[in-house]
Amino acid sequence: MNNTNLENFDFNLKKFNTSNIYSYFLNHEAATKQDLASGLNLTLPTVTKNIAYLSERGLIQISGSRGQTGGRRAATYSLCAEAKVALGLDITRHHVACVAVDLNGKIISFSRNRLVFKFTDDYFKKVSVLLNNFIESHDIENDKILGVGIGIPALVQSDNCSVFYSSIIDIRENTYDMFRKYIPFDIAMFNDAKAACFAEKWVNKDILNSFYIMLSNNVGGSMIINGQVYSGDNFRSAEVGHITLVPHGRQCYCGQCGCVDPYLAATNLSQDDLAGYFENLKTTDDEKILDNWSQYLDYMVSTVNIVRTILDCDIILGGYVGAYLEPYLDEIKKRALKISTFDSDAEFIKLCSYKHESIAAGAALHYISEFIKTV
Ligand SMILES: [Zn+2]
Repeated sequence: MNNTNLENFDFNLKKFNTSNIYSYFLNHEAATKQDLASGLNLTLPTVTKNIAYLSERGLIQISGSRGQTGGRRAATYSLCAEAKVALGLDITRHHVACVAVDLNGKIISFSRNRLVFKFTDDYFKKVSVLLNNFIESHDIENDKILGVGIGIPALVQSDNCSVFYSSIIDIRENTYDMFRKYIPFDIAMFNDAKAACFAEKWVNKDILNSFYIMLSNNVGGSMIINGQVYSGDNFRSAEVGHITLVPHGRQCYCGQCGCVDPYLAATNLSQDDLAGYFENLKTTDDEKILDNWSQYLDYMVSTVNIVRTILDCDIILGGYVGAYLEPYLDEIKKRALKISTFDSDAEFIKLCSYKHESIAAGAALHYISEFIKTV
C-alpha cells in the first residue's frame, strides 16, 4: 500500500467507525461507551474519540448514567433526534400536507391545509407561504432544515426534478422550477406512492420483496425487490392503478377504461370523509353501503391476486384506505385465498405501518436517509 492508499484507508476506516457508532444510536435509545465498544467490536479510545466528534457536531448528547449503586456510573449517550429535520409536502388535488421529520424518522409535526391545485404562480407562492407558516408555528430553525421532499401524483425521473407523466392534476414540466422559485431550501420531488413506500420501508427495514399498493384518491404502487425499489426501464414500474381489471369498464382518468384506479380509488367509498365512512361501516345495515363495500373488497383482492401471481411477494395495502383496513383484514385474506391458485394462506397480505401522512413523510425521509449516509 502506498502512502495515499494508506491515508485513504485510514480515512475510510475512521468514517466507517463514525457511521457505525452513529447508526448504533439510531437503533438504540441510549448507550454507554462500553456498550458501543462491545456491540461494535471497537476499542474504547476509538469510541471515545468518535463520541467527542459526534457530540461536538451536536448529533449526540449525554442522556443519563448507568451502573451499580456505589460503583462508578457510566454516562449514557443518546441521539439528538432534532439536530436536523427534513420537511415533506404532499401535494394533492385539494390539499397540501406538511410534515417535519426528525433524524429518527419520526413525524414531529404536521398540518393539512386545503389548497386547490392550479398550475399558477399564485399557487406555488401560496404553498411556500403555507410552508413558512408551518416552519414558524412549529419553531423549526432554518439551519436545521435539510431539505423539502415533495410528493406529487405524477411520475418523476430519478433526478427527482423532471416530471414526465401526470394526468391527475395539471403538473407540468417546469414544476420543479416553480417550487424552487419560492421555497428557499433544497427540494426534491417524488411520485406519491414511491414516497409512501419509502416511509414503509423506513419502518420495516428488513423488507426484502414487497409490493405496496397505495389506495388513496388515486391508486399507485411501488415495488421493492431485494431490498431496493425497482423503478423499471422507464421509471413507471408498479403502476398498479392502470392494470385492466374490467375490460371496457369504468372510465379511468388516464384515458383508458376498466383500469384498477376507478374501482379502488378511495373516492369509491367516500368523496371527502373516509374516517366518517369507516366509522359508519362498523355498524351500518344499509345494504347499498354494504354491497358497495363488498364489491370494493372483491376488486381489491382481484388486484392483489394479479400482483401476487406475478411477483410472488408480500403485498402491503396502504394509502388512505389502507389506514382503516385492520378490522377487515381477515375478510380480505379469506376472499384473496378463495381466488388464489397457489397460496394456502394469505399471510402475504400486510397492512401499512405508516398510517398517516406517509407520502409527505416518505418524501422528507429521503433527506434524513441522505444525511445519515454523510455522518
Ligand atoms: Zn388508467
